[in-house]
Amino acid sequence: MIPYQQGQCLCGAIKFTAQPASNNMDACHCTQCRKWSGGVLFAVPCTDLKINNESQLGAYQSSDWGERLFCKTCGSNLFWRALDQSIQVVMSQAFDEPGQFTFSAEAFVDEQPGNYAFANCTRKMTGEEFMAEYS
Ligand SMILES: [Zn+2]
Ligand SMILES: [Zn+2]
Repeated sequence: MIPYQQGQCLCGAIKFTAQPASNNMDACHCTQCRKWSGGVLFAVPCTDLKINNESQLGAYQSSDWGERLFCKTCGSNLFWRALDQSIQVVMSQAFDEPGQFTFSAEAFVDEQPGNYAFANCTRKMTGEEFMAEYS
């Protein structure tokens, strides 16, 4: 088991703990994640996400099955979760120690713009391949 990890938003209004499902961190190149993050989204699937100050959390339902959560004060993008809370994903850079995770996979490479590419050796999946595996 991976130990529980702590994290917080930029301003500190929201602090959280979560248990990472593994040491792996994935990138998502899909249009929604790039729009929301303003870059490339790096995420860690977790269980048992506990948030200290839910009233500070803004929510945007970005699809029929999921919502994106952020700090209302500083705008930090923090979590994606399924509406039924069956899947919880933490933005890796929101953790206090994001460098501990291994960059292992990239999703939605078919939506990736042509003007960047990561040198890390990762498993690359199209949106179709990713959805087949995780839904
Ligand atoms: Zn904040
Ligand atoms: Zn995405």
